[in-house]
Amino acid sequence: MEIEISGIPIEIQRKPVRYLRLTVQAPNGRVRVSAPKHLSNAAIETFISSKIAWIQKQREKFEQQPEAPFAVLGKPYCLRVENGRKNSLVLSDDEAVLILRTPCTDAQREKFLREWYRTVLKEQIEIYLPKWEAITGLRCQSWQIKDMKTRWGSCNTRTRKIWLSLHLAKKPLSCLEYVILHELVHLAVPNHGKDFAAMMDRYMPGWRMIKKGMNG
Ligand SMILES: [Zn+2]
Repeated sequence: MEIEISGIPIEIQRKPVRYLRLTVQAPNGRVRVSAPKHLSNAAIETFISSKIAWIQKQREKFEQQPEAPFAVLGKPYCLRVENGRKNSLVLSDDEAVLILRTPCTDAQREKFLREWYRTVLKEQIEIYLPKWEAITGLRCQSWQIKDMKTRWGSCNTRTRKIWLSLHLAKKPLSCLEYVILHELVHLAVPNHGKDFAAMMDRYMPGWRMIKKGMNG
C-alpha cells in the first residue's frame, strides 16, 4: 500500500512485526514503513505524521549527496535511464544509456549492472592477467571475479587461485593491472613484507601511488 503525507509517497508494508519501523532509503530517499498486521491505517498515519520533519531532513540529506557517477574503467559517464523491451547498456562518448525492461525492480537493475560490469572486467582480465604472468613468470591456476566490497583482490597461495573484485570494472586499468600483479606476487611471497615490496618495485615502480589512489 502506498499513501502520501505532506507530498511524500510512503510505502507501507504489513508484516508480522511488533513495532512500526520507518526507513528512509539511500540514495533515492524512498520512505518505507513496516507495520504490524493489526495496526489501523489511522494509527500508522498518525505515527508517520509525527515523524515527518525527520523524514524531510533525511531526504534533504540524500539530495545533497549526488549519486556516485557512473564509471567504466575509470571513465565517468552521464547515466541516462530509459525504458525498453530488453535490458541493455550502451556507451557513447560521455553518455551511458541504460535501457531497462519494465517493470524493473531495484534488485533487477542492480543485477543487470553487475553482470554488465562482469563482462567488461572479464574481457580486461583476459588481456592483463596473461600479460603479467608472462612478465613475472608467475602463473595462477585459476581466477574468478567476485563482488567483494572490502578487498580489491585475494589469492589462495595453496591452490594458486586468484579472486578479483567486480568493482575493479569501475576503476582505471592501471588499478586492475596493479591488483593482478599484487596477487601474482603473492604466489611467490605470501605476505606484504620486504620481499613483496621489492618484487612489486621491480615490476611496477609506481605501485604505491596506484594503491594510495585506489584506497583514498
Ligand atoms: Zn596482498
